[in-house]
Amino acid sequence: MSAAEPLFRRLALVGIGLIGSSLARGVREQGLAGEIAISTRSADTLEKARNLDLGDSYSLDAAEAVRDADIVVIATPLGAYKAVAEAIAPALAEGAIVTDVGSVKSCFLTDVVPALPGHARPVAGHPVAGTEHSGPEAGFAELFHGRWAIVTPTPESDQDAVDQVTEMWRRLGSDVEFMEARHHDQVLAITSHLPHLISYTIVGTATDMEDDLKSEVIRFSASGFRDFTRIAASDPVMWRDIFVANREAILDILGRFDEDLTALKRAIRRGDGQLLEDHFTRARAIRRGVIDAKQDQPDLPPETE
Ligand code: NAP
Repeated sequence: MSAAEPLFRRLALVGIGLIGSSLARGVREQGLAGEIAISTRSADTLEKARNLDLGDSYSLDAAEAVRDADIVVIATPLGAYKAVAEAIAPALAEGAIVTDVGSVKSCFLTDVVPALPGHARPVAGHPVAGTEHSGPEAGFAELFHGRWAIVTPTPESDQDAVDQVTEMWRRLGSDVEFMEARHHDQVLAITSHLPHLISYTIVGTATDMEDDLKSEVIRFSASGFRDFTRIAASDPVMWRDIFVANREAILDILGRFDEDLTALKRAIRRGDGQLLEDHFTRARAIRRGVIDAKQDQPDLPPETE
């Protein structure tokens, strides 16, 4: 199939926030679908999507949006997956591909797949790209450029559906990697979920401080605290759902983190400078690896900052 040819006749988006709207913009820019059908939960968000001209049709009824679509992309928080899957299931066209963008992949298998009719072709995916902003205005087509899109097929997945979802992410500018859902969730627990938990914790600790100390924390935030506040500004509902959906992998990684933190605490208490220096030297080498892997670019729209 040539790059100029649309991949899909009708692409339906359920959820039109940061990720859904970035997808809508990218799909339109690349001519990936003949028609984009948009649905969302609230009239307010639907109106914003319409004003931004993100699609060709708009509905508050997810079932209506997916009717006759050859691909459906679920782009809601994870906690809505089961209800969304149940709502769209009776309206899905024969052989429709059902995919998603969720940050945890095992819940697609537990909450979405069982609700779908046998003829549907589910394939889960996760663009590892985002910002701390939400809603349809926050999206931009370049969000996925040069980023990973992780596709998590199962042995039951339809190969043609996997190929089409893969091609969609490639044409949106992403590099595609395949993983088993459980493995994905373990990897993201350490690279994304734990850093968010640490950020929420640090910002929470500062918030609980006495008022005079708190104002100093904000004044001198450029010394490190600022970066945590940016991460902790992410959408609370999305992150609530991530921690609930991936609790097993997160608790496992937190156990290891706890042990490492205890070792560092002991070194600080004992004044063991050598242990601290060795630890920090190893951490610095990891930063080099991140830069070499070109993973140090901020996810910001080109026009900001
Ligand atoms: P968002 O900007 O907050 O948008 C969420 C969308 O889902 C909105 O259209 C919202 O509808 C709808 N929605 C919210 N709760 C719902 C419910 N209970 N039932 C039905 N629809 C509901 O979120 P986002 O950042 O695009 O995240 C969407 C998905 O992408 C999540 O699963 C997240 O894990 C994943 N993801 C996010 C990022 C990131 O950095 N943000 C990165 C990668 C993947 P209304 O506004 O109409 O209520």
